[in-house]
Amino acid sequence: MGEKYKLAQKTKAIDKTIIRIGDINIGDGSFIVIAGPCAVESQEQIINISYEMKESGANMLRGGVFKPRTSPYDFQGLGMEGIQFLLEAKDKTGLPVVTEITDASQIDALQNVDVLQIGTRNMQNYSLLKEVGQTRKPVILKRGFASTIEEFLLSAEYILMSGNENVILCERGLRTFQQGTRYLLDFSSIPIIKEKTHLPIIVDPSHAAGRADLVGIFSELAMVAGADGIIVEVHNEPSKALCDGKQALSIHEFNNMMKKLKKRYEFEMTQHA
Ligand code: PEP
Ligand code: MN
Repeated sequence: MGEKYKLAQKTKAIDKTIIRIGDINIGDGSFIVIAGPCAVESQEQIINISYEMKESGANMLRGGVFKPRTSPYDFQGLGMEGIQFLLEAKDKTGLPVVTEITDASQIDALQNVDVLQIGTRNMQNYSLLKEVGQTRKPVILKRGFASTIEEFLLSAEYILMSGNENVILCERGLRTFQQGTRYLLDFSSIPIIKEKTHLPIIVDPSHAAGRADLVGIFSELAMVAGADGIIVEVHNEPSKALCDGKQALSIHEFNNMMKKLKKRYEFEMTQHA
């Protein structure tokens, strides 16, 4: 009861929040898969990938158009033009779309996107949190890569406090001394967050791993830990990706992972029955 995050904390009255996006429910015990490229690279690329994602059983499509890159010399995303391509992919496949917002000035341009993503670098951009809180659009809030769970939940609180109840938390890994993976995926945050809040939480295995070969096992571990879903990077030609190619699954690899996840989900259901 005594948590600082008054609205995010679990109470007797509110023990879970289910977020509805079209006919998808996040937080109802199902396992949602959001998949697509790190960045929208062209009209053809995002439309082709979107058909493949739909075919493989993904629930939503991701694709960044405003890319927060570490180096200012790297591909920064297609910007406004990319939004149109993403919305075309949505129209063609019916898949709801997720994209990152990096500045409040983009809110109007993103009005037809289904879910706004706040990236790890912006988790503590409190003015941006308040602005997306003014909308009623579902928000995926990624954990800062050097943030405690309490800081993470207080960031969610900014969005909730501004009136937007549709917050989906996302664990995406922390910066530590270990170098085996790009970030250290903090699976422990999942049961802790489930205990402390009513908000759904998904996992981003791609940015945590930084390498495609670990994405499948991290996704299964996320499911076992109790996550409500994953957001995963997939590319039609990972070696040629303009952004985050090393961690992108090929379409074939994504298909295989989906089959394994389906089996794992069925097994988990027998355990909880
Ligand atoms: C992304 O999803 O492409 C991304 C930049 O993620 P993060 O903010 O977790 O690094
Ligand atoms: Mn990426």
